[in-house]
Amino acid sequence: MNATVKPSQLIKGATGDWEIVIGLEVHAQVTSNSKLFSGASTEFGGEPNSHVSLVDAAMPGMLPVINEACIRQAVRTGLGLKAQINLRSVFDRKNYFYPDLPQGYQISQYKSPIVGEGEVIVDLDSGDSITVGIERLHLEQDAGKLLHDQHATMSFVDLNRSGVALMEIVSKPDMRTSEQAKAYVAKLRSILRYLGTCDGDMEKGSLRADVNVSVRKPGGPLGTRCEIKNVNSIRFIGQAIEYEARRQIGILEDGGPIDQETRLFDAVKGETRSMRSKEEAHDYRYFPDPDLLPLEFSQAYVDALKAELPELPDAKKARFIRDFALSPDDAGVLVSERESADFYEAVLGKLANAARDGKLAANWVINELFGRLNKDGHGIAASPVSAAQLAAIVDLIGDATISGKIAKDLFEIVWQEGGDPRALVETRGMKQVTDLGAIEKVVDDIIAVNPDKAAQVRDKPAMIGWFVGQVMKSSGGKANPQAVNDILKSKLGL
Ligand code: ADP
Ligand code: MG
Repeated sequence: MNATVKPSQLIKGATGDWEIVIGLEVHAQVTSNSKLFSGASTEFGGEPNSHVSLVDAAMPGMLPVINEACIRQAVRTGLGLKAQINLRSVFDRKNYFYPDLPQGYQISQYKSPIVGEGEVIVDLDSGDSITVGIERLHLEQDAGKLLHDQHATMSFVDLNRSGVALMEIVSKPDMRTSEQAKAYVAKLRSILRYLGTCDGDMEKGSLRADVNVSVRKPGGPLGTRCEIKNVNSIRFIGQAIEYEARRQIGILEDGGPIDQETRLFDAVKGETRSMRSKEEAHDYRYFPDPDLLPLEFSQAYVDALKAELPELPDAKKARFIRDFALSPDDAGVLVSERESADFYEAVLGKLANAARDGKLAANWVINELFGRLNKDGHGIAASPVSAAQLAAIVDLIGDATISGKIAKDLFEIVWQEGGDPRALVETRGMKQVTDLGAIEKVVDDIIAVNPDKAAQVRDKPAMIGWFVGQVMKSSGGKANPQAVNDILKSKLGL
């Protein structure tokens, strides 16, 4: 367990400081064409009950058949979480009644899950990182959906989701702040997307979290937890934790007990409220599903999947830092979403000299491109500037054809109008002046008309900035800044 709580992360109560303890159960929908035990489609948004096989509708006599693609995805996810892969696991029936569950039980894994202990490294805004332990990952079926708003007196059932494969990823109670919990979910989602095992779309319900929260005096024994069910955005996870921790502290400081219970998060009010207490907790009567044999595979099967895993964010980040001397922060920004990392790598692939200009390219992707995309509210997929165009702009800076300042103008032109950056530099006369004679002439002129300033600069060398500004202005921003600096220094005797 981490002991990474700083005093500033504790909550001040009337009786002293309190520490929050958080553990998450994340439900991630497996990316696969068909369901966990049937061939019906998993496509989102179909007509109600259009993706339902007889198995999903639990018709009598139907038998589940395991979908190997889902097993592969769970094993790959386990490997991405650096977790123990269990070569033998068991599917159990979790029995309960609800109208969206025609079988009367959910097929899940209880005592013998497919994936055991692992870990996720989570980088925080502060620059620190924490390691969150993974307790287990198991496979289970999703249920159907009830529609209450279609008819005045009746509810309808849509079984399209019934039987879709979910991975439940259970963390250890290793998080101590809402920021850590949010960063953990973001990192987990990023790993799943790199792996292609879950699309991570929280709005469509592909990823949702049960949030377990307790509080304790710093370093004391774990407190009683409450579980907030089905929170479906990262922001709400943070809000639910903040609210719930303060609610529990209030009760404890008034001398009351915390009842272990299941709660709901009300996003409108920003509150959690009780759903059911532990006493009302279901007894699910788990037992191994007699329709399914234990799931067994060989170590060779796991090794083959491991050999084909894509490079994951931590490894990519380390490589960017090593090969292109990026700062950990910049590398972290680039790898945090797979699309951003892919874009940066596409730029690298087009650069004339990636070893020299890789770092410059990272600055351009992060500051200019992401900045511009944010301003217009676009995602990277909708970027009007392609990786090839951005690489061409970086090349032009790298080989000193244009200055960084001119490059910003060029970027804006490419953003607005498109076009080949190298050709634009020619046709619009944007080339940098590196002709030393030409620059020297401008420098001489400016010194000649400002003799007073030229005299002062010897006592106040910082004034050289003013001269640089004048020269750049009179060259229309096209003078090579390094050359301007060098010539000014020698002419002004600095
Ligand atoms: P259950 O099966 O009843 O949900 P688990 O022991 O599997 O119980 O725990 C579920 C989740 O609750 C895990 O993510 C775990 O990290 C978290 N958890 C366990 N104890 C605590 C606690 N005292 N405070 C906060 N979270 C906890
Ligand atoms: Mg639970």
